[in-house]
Amino acid sequence: MKLYEHQAKQVFSKHGIRVPQGKVAHSPAEVAEIAEKLPGDEVVLKSQVLVGGRGKAGGIAIVKKSEAAEKSKDLFGMEIKGLKVEKLLVEEKLDIQKEMYVGMTLDRENKGIVLLASSVGGMDIEEIAAKHPDKIGRKTVNPVWGLWDYQVRELLYDAGIPKEYFRDVFGIVKRLYSIFVRYEAELTEINPLVVTPTGVYAADGRLNIDDNALYRQKEVAEFKEYAGSELEKEAESKGINYVKLEGNIGVIANGAGMSMATMDLIYLEGGKPANFLDIGGGASADLVKASIDLITRDPSVKVIFVNIFGGITRCDVVAEGLVKAFSEIEMQLPVVLRLAGTNEEEGRRIIEEYMEKNPNKLVLVKTMEEGAKKAVELGGG
Ligand code: GDP
Ligand code: MN
Repeated sequence: MKLYEHQAKQVFSKHGIRVPQGKVAHSPAEVAEIAEKLPGDEVVLKSQVLVGGRGKAGGIAIVKKSEAAEKSKDLFGMEIKGLKVEKLLVEEKLDIQKEMYVGMTLDRENKGIVLLASSVGGMDIEEIAAKHPDKIGRKTVNPVWGLWDYQVRELLYDAGIPKEYFRDVFGIVKRLYSIFVRYEAELTEINPLVVTPTGVYAADGRLNIDDNALYRQKEVAEFKEYAGSELEKEAESKGINYVKLEGNIGVIANGAGMSMATMDLIYLEGGKPANFLDIGGGASADLVKASIDLITRDPSVKVIFVNIFGGITRCDVVAEGLVKAFSEIEMQLPVVLRLAGTNEEEGRRIIEEYMEKNPNKLVLVKTMEEGAKKAVELGGG
């Protein structure tokens, strides 16, 4: 997971690396409000998109405070390498005297963490390496031993970091390394690391976290911004694999393949699925209920098609979940149900028993083809 610059800087700052004052804005009005509170006459507007080279692409502007809101309109809605700019980091303008570079990444070949530093910065590391090979330092750290002070000194010496900034940069590299380890990063970078009259600051920040570690990196997982709708966000929090689509037939199936096949059949019958929803293998009754609840809250849904092929998933458990859902959620929609596979008879019995007591709009079918046809007929079309 890649953190946005403003998020990376938040982490840096929390761990003692100095960053410029600033906040994120989502609208020109917010830009004005934030700019007002920052020191100086000018502020920097920085597009928050997850690609590098924003400066060159015109995604960064240094503007007078009084013009910040107006100028921000050019940045909002701009596209950088195909990504829409939806938020801007509004920062105090630093008085930059020198730009440097520090970064680190996993080095799988050497089974270590490779640290890079340079006394020139602002351009990407490949360019620094090509143009200033004599001003780059490189050190591979054994993560078991950790980072030794002498290694940092050698790194900065090789990078040609001037001695007046040595102490500050030394501290920053040490802190950055502990962030890298603590947050289980794959990559982190400060480019440029800048010298100003008031000290050394991280003027930019990158921090990419190993996706496989997110489950235990709670603090980072909170940074996650959902591109999707509220329903998708809620589905994810409940462990339901849900994607909203254009149509009006709500679909619940088990397994990605089964879900896709169900959607194909709906298209084949002339209907359009309202969503992709995979309850996965071995789904609990509660998960089935939560899925029904989710789908019924999508106003475009006119009928629900539940298509379960029990393998690990047991039909009786699914049936229990459905009965639970129908008795607790006020169901207005017709539901087409196909249950096959493990504990099919038991599942059908539970459903039929429910249908006897509650003659509603539930339709039990035998095959998925039949189910798709019925769903389209009942309101999908
Ligand atoms: P990137 O192009 O996506 O890597 O964005 P950066 O955050 O690295 O910004 C690009 C360049 O904008 C930097 O190298 C600086 O030269 C300049 N810049 C960014 N912030 C400031 C600032 O506060 N003051 C000044 N003078 N320049 C800045
Ligand atoms: Mn940069």
